[in-house]
Amino acid sequence: MTVTVRFAPSPTGHIHIGNSRTALFNWLFAQKAGGQFILRFDDTDLERSRAEFADAIAADLVWLGIEPDRVERQSRRVSAYDAAAEKLKAAGLLYPCYETPDELERRRSRARALGRPPVYDRAGIMQTAEQRATFEAEGRRPHWRFVLPNHEGDPAVTRRTEIGWTDLCRGDQSVDLASLSDPVLIREDGSYLYTLPSIVDDIEMGVTHVIRGEDHVANTGVQLAIFQALGAPAPVFGHHNLLTTRDGEGLSKRKGALSIGSLRESGLEPMAVASLAVLTGTSQAVEAVADMSVLAERFDLATVSRSAAKFDPADLDGLNAKLVHDMPFSAVADRLSNLGIAADEAFWTVIRGNCTKVADAQIYWNIVEGRIDSLVDDEDRDYLLAARGLLPEGEITLETWGAWTGAVKAETGRKGRALFMPLRRALTGLDHGPDMREFLPLIGRQNVLARLPG
Ligand code: GLU
Repeated sequence: MTVTVRFAPSPTGHIHIGNSRTALFNWLFAQKAGGQFILRFDDTDLERSRAEFADAIAADLVWLGIEPDRVERQSRRVSAYDAAAEKLKAAGLLYPCYETPDELERRRSRARALGRPPVYDRAGIMQTAEQRATFEAEGRRPHWRFVLPNHEGDPAVTRRTEIGWTDLCRGDQSVDLASLSDPVLIREDGSYLYTLPSIVDDIEMGVTHVIRGEDHVANTGVQLAIFQALGAPAPVFGHHNLLTTRDGEGLSKRKGALSIGSLRESGLEPMAVASLAVLTGTSQAVEAVADMSVLAERFDLATVSRSAAKFDPADLDGLNAKLVHDMPFSAVADRLSNLGIAADEAFWTVIRGNCTKVADAQIYWNIVEGRIDSLVDDEDRDYLLAARGLLPEGEITLETWGAWTGAVKAETGRKGRALFMPLRRALTGLDHGPDMREFLPLIGRQNVLARLPG
């Protein structure tokens, strides 16, 4: 069977770096196995789902390097969910309940007060046709619950029923179905909660592996029971730890924190984001991986740790810098030209080691192109004047800086920082930057003379 995974966001906001962890885990898993990746929009919540969020999520995935083999929308598949619901109803496994949210809350409080777990008492399943008709006549509409298989024929008498799975990240897991309320699958207005559509899709789309955040562990026991009820084998599950910031705060799609869009706009490389999103919270070192296929080789769900995956957004800059420092000119040529930088390979090779982001090339391009303010301190004016007079004749080459500063040193007696720094500040307008031996030929004679007091 072809390995098939899905990333299933609800399009109710922009995806953030934590969501990208789930997307990337699925993508890398599929890549490694030569499998299929489905992008599935869980958009049954019509009020909160928006087409523009779905489009933005699809674009964010492309930017990250994820190219779905298939895109699905749950809102277009309601007839499949209706068919499954009918099947469950016919089997007596989906029953109507007429309690209002207030009534349910009162029952839960009562159970808590008596020291009992607030599990739904299945009142709905015991109701007679007359009682249901009375509720309907009052104008009530039912929500529908699935009967968990935690009894031996009489749903009023539950018994401990362990249902288990071997989780790709967490190892052996099990849940007692008697400790859970029968899940609501259909709301009063006839709309579906996430549970049933997700299972129907996983079955019909041939999903073999469900890789998702550990916030879904609690749902898995119920979902396994529904797979069984629908007569379908369940996929393999893997629940990974969630990314949190250093102070332990979770990320929220609605808050827009660390959205993929904002990271892209800040000029970060997709592989910097992917490296951090994938390697954080694993037993592997978090380092910049330049290539998705290399990340796929490294990727292993068994290395995901149990505790939260804490990360510092500031680490993205370091990872990004590492990628940029190693980037060949061919990888950036078009991007530089889009930034209006008509640079050649020699320029890029000299300056890339000083760039955190590709767009930082602009800083050095301005120096080469002559649009900068040189920095000349009053106490260095005479020194720089003398240096100007010592600039070797002719074209500036890789030998010039050494010969020039050698002569300046002999003439002025300055050495170390006092020798080099005033020259760097005057010629580049900066305190730090590329190696001057290599940078000087790019700056060129005309700029050098123009930036020194004369
Ligand atoms: N729509 C669900 C979510 O965004 C998907 C969960 C799942 O992968 O099963 O959390």
